[in-house]
Amino acid sequence: MLTPNFTLLELLRSDSTDRTASNFKCITSREVLNLEVLCNNILEPARKRFNVPFYVNSGYRSPYSNKQVGGVANSLHTKGCAVDFTVSDKAMLYDIFNYIKDNHTFDELILYKDRNYKPRFIHVAYVALSTEHRMMSKTVIR
Ligand SMILES: [Zn+2]
Repeated sequence: MLTPNFTLLELLRSDSTDRTASNFKCITSREVLNLEVLCNNILEPARKRFNVPFYVNSGYRSPYSNKQVGGVANSLHTKGCAVDFTVSDKAMLYDIFNYIKDNHTFDELILYKDRNYKPRFIHVAYVALSTEHRMMSKTVIR
């Protein structure tokens, strides 16, 4: 366990077997530490606050996995500094997004919505060793 509600395993999984394998093969202790800091600082407190399961779609991505899913070249996912997650009741993502925005320090916070403007998932990133955090938050339709 990285934190009481998040395992390293779930932060390495992908919806494709070869990407999951690549994530397991490539991750180093540095990225594990980054994931742990992100879970401790943001995900775990948010999970406790809302008291519902968070489903991680994507955590750490190997360079191969990141390319496969069309991630940007220097994606914070490749450093273990970003996580995409959702919850069963998607309407709750608005509240979770606002809670993180108003109560936590982060580098990137993005609420992804579908073409019907329904929330789909949240991308949140925290750069562990940085002393200045970008606090960039936005909504993206995709
Ligand atoms: Zn992401």
